Amino acid sequence: QKVQRYFDERCKTSKALSERAKTVIPGGVQHNLAFNHPFPLAFSQAEGAHLSDVDGNRYIDFLQAGGPTLLGSNYEPVRRKVHELIDECGPVTGLLHEYEVKLAELVCRHMPGVEMLRLLGSGTEAVMGAVRLARTFTGRKWIIKVGGAYHGWSDQLVYGMRLPKTGRMEATGIPRGATGHTQECLPNDLDELRRKLSWNRLRGGTAAVLVEPLGPESGTRPVHRDYNRQVRQLCDEFGALLVFDEVVTGFRTGLAGAQGYFGVKPDITVLGKCLTGGYPMAGAIGGRKDIMMSLVGGIGTTTKRAFVGGTLSANPLSCVAGYHAILEMERTGAAAKAGRAGDRLCQGLEEIIRRRGLPYVSYNMGSIVHLQTSGVLLLDTSSLWKLLKVKDEAKRRKHMMEEMGAAYTAHGLITLAGSRIYTSLADTDEVIDDALNRFDD
Ligand code: PLP
Repeated sequence: QKVQRYFDERCKTSKALSERAKTVIPGGVQHNLAFNHPFPLAFSQAEGAHLSDVDGNRYIDFLQAGGPTLLGSNYEPVRRKVHELIDECGPVTGLLHEYEVKLAELVCRHMPGVEMLRLLGSGTEAVMGAVRLARTFTGRKWIIKVGGAYHGWSDQLVYGMRLPKTGRMEATGIPRGATGHTQECLPNDLDELRRKLSWNRLRGGTAAVLVEPLGPESGTRPVHRDYNRQVRQLCDEFGALLVFDEVVTGFRTGLAGAQGYFGVKPDITVLGKCLTGGYPMAGAIGGRKDIMMSLVGGIGTTTKRAFVGGTLSANPLSCVAGYHAILEMERTGAAAKAGRAGDRLCQGLEEIIRRRGLPYVSYNMGSIVHLQTSGVLLLDTSSLWKLLKVKDEAKRRKHMMEEMGAAYTAHGLITLAGSRIYTSLADTDEVIDDALNRFDD
């Protein structure tokens, strides 16, 4: 009731706008991240660690747009560079711009597995491109992903084919043929991965194994520390390409991404989000030179070409933002600082959970913080999957987290569906301590 009262009494302008939205926008929201409230709040200002809604309420922003704004919202040094570029040439011409080259050079310098880079429009597009590239380069068709991992919304990889679906992201309208060469393994189950790779060897072979290096959904289902190295070994044994989806981890876990952190070099890296510092059109495929050259093919030769496109891909606005955002990440040590804020927050949340005896668990990988209702479901997915009713249980928990998300909002905290938190460079100790008091309330 208290939460409902907050939304009814203090968010009247948002409510009116969301009613208006419902008449012209299906469901009244354009973005999946805007769902975790009785109605979506409309925001008007963002700066650093804080947001203000159209009713003038102020929030600590732990959504950070779903990850991209590692430097904090609306970061001034990058904004200034974007303004300068727009004054010079506007946002797009379709022709080569120096910032494309500068951004590619910078990413290649930092990411161990990236020798060349091709910019695309989004993480979803980049994953699609990576799959096509892997198939073209290897001449094989099978791809293996990890159950529960999110690689965007393309037909062939859409969400959670095998792990409990929780309702919201269930996807229909996809013919069986579209996923006909996609397989899933449960997180941490290397035996299953080996079996699939062996099975595929007799049927044309595996082109690529795709992983989110922290585990599905940015570590919502965490993988063990040695998992990526072991997947690398299996890929080498079976001649499959290893694709790291670093859309979330790229730059957020450090300038060298999760591949730098784990010391595992993928053949293809998919980037998005932080790549353009929160500005639009964040997506790229990076990788080994010989593989990347399959994007070009040999015109007039027999070399095959993996075609990718995108009218607005690699526009100068995205490139100037990305280039200066990464330079600022270098200069400020953003990943490490945001990571320390994540550690402080997570420790504080653990203390609250313990002191109040709550059936929750909090854990983090630097600036990516998880707050869940139970550790067991998360950490031992493969055995629990065999239990009946796990799907219902997952739905119930997800619903509970979303309700908690609304309660956090009413206490001035914006999270991702009540269960994930992204910290940023702007999260000082004072911001985190303020947030912890609000969580405790
Ligand atoms: N891959 C991962 C790991 C993601 O988390 C996301 C988006 O959240 C995507 C791919 C898709 O990226 P985009 O939303 O830019 O299409």
